[in-house]
Amino acid sequence: MSTPAHRARLVLALRSAGITNTGVLSAIEGVPRELFVPETFIDRAYEDTALPIGYGQTLSQPVVVATMIQALELNDSVKLFEVGTGSGYHAAILSYLCRQVYTIERHKPLLAEAQGRFDALGLTNVISMSGDGMMGWPEEAPFDRISVTAAGSEPPQALLDQLKVGGVMVMPVGGQSRLQQLVRFRRTKEGYDSEVMMDVRFVPLLPGVASEIGP
Ligand code: SAH
Repeated sequence: MSTPAHRARLVLALRSAGITNTGVLSAIEGVPRELFVPETFIDRAYEDTALPIGYGQTLSQPVVVATMIQALELNDSVKLFEVGTGSGYHAAILSYLCRQVYTIERHKPLLAEAQGRFDALGLTNVISMSGDGMMGWPEEAPFDRISVTAAGSEPPQALLDQLKVGGVMVMPVGGQSRLQQLVRFRRTKEGYDSEVMMDVRFVPLLPGVASEIGP
């Protein structure tokens, strides 16, 4: 259900939505999104829309994924930490644009499925773990970049602490019943600067590891 034409059409949609970074566009064109969605949604894999991935979680809309990734200002020496592996789609794209991607997910079954996809695609620079990403990944810190794909009311201190000075973190900030905004944080010697990128809608950033009762 995926042809080069499907992917090219998605890239055109992203271009007209203002995504200009050619590295980001070609990484998105190179990752087969249909591998990351449940079978029932394969037909819609290349629409610019968010899709459910189980456990109440969603794979973000491609334009949001692209905006987040473009905002991270990546290059091939970057060591990046992602909170919220979900389907693994976002991490797969990041793996083409970074040296090393560390990704963490609180739902173990989602992580297992995502790891299977990384293996199938031969993405050897993605390291994944199940756990609470709000605590960061202290053994691997500091990071050049941090990408948080779930919304919190404020940036977790542990994450800001694990960002190198000059490093960038992109995260949706806001509650579930109110406006969320994608914010880019830049760590400075004294603290951090922040900049609002766009309005967004993300699932919540939750503490601890999920207990798997039901779907
Ligand atoms: N980046 C994902 C989208 C995931 S949706 C993709 O490309 O598919 C957000 C994910 O963040 C969910 O899977 C949710 O379980 C996870 N999450 C929420 N809080 C978390 C936390 N504290 N630690 C790790 N993962 C978390």
